[in-house]
Amino acid sequence: MDVKEAKTGADSAKSKTCDTCGDSSCSATKQQKKDESTEEYAARIRLLSRLCRINHKIVVLSGKGGVGKSTVAVNLAMSLALSGKRVGLLDVDIHGPSIPTMLGLENKTIEGTAGGLLPVELENMKVMSIGFLLQNQDDAIIWRGPMKMGVIKQFLTDVEWGDLDYLIVDAPPGTGDEPLSLCQLIDPLDGAVIVTTPQRVAAVDVRKSISFCRQVHVPVLGVIENMSGFVCPKCGEITQILPAGGGRKMATDMKVPFLGAIPMDPGIAKSGDEGRAFIQHYASSPTAKLMQEIINQITATDKTKKLNS
Ligand code: ADP
Repeated sequence: MDVKEAKTGADSAKSKTCDTCGDSSCSATKQQKKDESTEEYAARIRLLSRLCRINHKIVVLSGKGGVGKSTVAVNLAMSLALSGKRVGLLDVDIHGPSIPTMLGLENKTIEGTAGGLLPVELENMKVMSIGFLLQNQDDAIIWRGPMKMGVIKQFLTDVEWGDLDYLIVDAPPGTGDEPLSLCQLIDPLDGAVIVTTPQRVAAVDVRKSISFCRQVHVPVLGVIENMSGFVCPKCGEITQILPAGGGRKMATDMKVPFLGAIPMDPGIAKSGDEGRAFIQHYASSPTAKLMQEIINQITATDKTKKLNS
């Protein structure tokens, strides 16, 4: 499918609301559930009406922080946006919202309208991050569980995403309450991309993340082994610093797709710090090409190919 057709597909979704949608697989029953209050029912319908206008929803997960989850989310979203798709990027990594920095949007704040919160726009992309709510970048977010759940729900319900081809969600790390409520709220999810690093200790986290997805019935689109070897900026040779292959082995053992390995590349760290997406600004580098191959596999999986075939 080319860009024009993709846009037409998204346009046709424009008129789709919970009242007009004829999708028999949609989980939005218009009936109030027995155990649901009127407010809860209204909130559920509001959430579903938003999500119903988004064709594909992909969550990026990791067993722990610092493995490159936000890097993958940013570059996946940017690659799709550059190919003409309408993309939303939602950063709900509550304790470490790094997406505003990675996209050079640190000084942006969120505006509200009668219809909800307006995401920050960049290229073809609408970006929303918990980071936009912080008055000072150095502020720590000390919120108790219910508040975190509330803000995740608000970002899904109250943000004016409009019609999107893809929503990419940078989830909080781990397998606790926050990723859990995220996966439960975004129903149905196309699936999860799991990011890990090569060491065997990291593989334990992958196992947990995969089990988590199975428990919450979220398809695993695949595992990415990030920081897999180091690319010499002078000669381009890749040196294995950490024992490689943990992510691949675990993906094979647990019978989920292994999407590929991304080496440690100084360009990735530099572009993140400079607020420029690596896949866009270092497009001709071998690492960006590897990244693009991984992204192509994600968007070509069964669940997402509808839009791309
Ligand atoms: P997470 O979201 O898992 O906490 P980030 O994506 O924020 O991790 O990455 C942590 C840091 O590592 C960032 O500074 C990022 O630029 C850097 N980084 C991520 N992947 C790579 C890589 N393959 N090569 C070099 N630096 C990387």
